[in-house]
Amino acid sequence: MSTSFDTRTRHDSHGRYPEAVTVEDFRQNLATVRARIDAACRRVDRDPETVRLLPVSKTKPEASLRLAHAAGCRMLGENKPQEAYRKWEVMQDLTDLQWSVIGHLQTNKAKLVARFATEFQALDSLRVAEALERRLQTEGRSLDVFVQVNTSGEASKYGLAPEEVPTFIQVLPSFSALRVRGLMTLALFSSEAERVRQCFILLRTLRDQLRDRAPAGIGLDELSMGMSGDFEIAIEEGATVVRVGQAIFGARDTPDSHYWPTGSTTEEAPSLKSKEPQT
Ligand SMILES: *Cc1c(COP(=O)(O)O)cnc(C)c1O
Repeated sequence: MSTSFDTRTRHDSHGRYPEAVTVEDFRQNLATVRARIDAACRRVDRDPETVRLLPVSKTKPEASLRLAHAAGCRMLGENKPQEAYRKWEVMQDLTDLQWSVIGHLQTNKAKLVARFATEFQALDSLRVAEALERRLQTEGRSLDVFVQVNTSGEASKYGLAPEEVPTFIQVLPSFSALRVRGLMTLALFSSEAERVRQCFILLRTLRDQLRDRAPAGIGLDELSMGMSGDFEIAIEEGATVVRVGQAIFGARDTPDSHYWPTGSTTEEAPSLKSKEPQT
């Protein structure tokens, strides 16, 4: 994998994804995204089977999620634990549907996640690990987890600083209900593909450095990176999970600032620029 590709971001097309309203819409959108995944894999000689597509259903109503399920989706990603929990509660008739929580967790919401989620991709503190472990023990459940890393240096993004990750990984074996699978990141929101790519390269490099030294039982094979606007670049740099919402479900009305406190959907907000590392 190298930086010789000129794959561009698609953040500017976000507002244009039409709402999927039929099962056929979902089938088509899934096929289109899958084809883009396959094409990105071909560019870097990767087997498309090594990339999992996680459809992200946040803000979308129950009816849309049911259509996505009918079109074949068996795991859905949700950013907010409470929204995810509500949706899980009303869709328990879909017994083969699993849930991945991909957004920041406060310790007081750990009990919700412990109850229904199969996967949690935003582990970024010891306190959250402790809270989840305790609640999972109570529930008699376990959870696949990804450690979230802040690769963009933006203060608005959650996640551990890259240099904090090695120490953090060392303590995770003491949480027996957490099955560590890999690392997760959100890249810079920018139409400058090269800067976005640097975030993905940073996550992969970190994973490669840590993998050999990882404590027993800590898996670091997975790299969850890439969303509707940048997943092809992420795949070129080694993503094994891409989290794709709008390209499957349609554009969201809710601004992304609702999910990333001071973030912005298309370009870095000017106020953030000063906090970014100089390039
Ligand atoms: C919403 C979200 C995504 C998907 O973003 P899209 O632009 O809808 O593809 C990916 N990751 C996280 C953490 C999210 O909250």
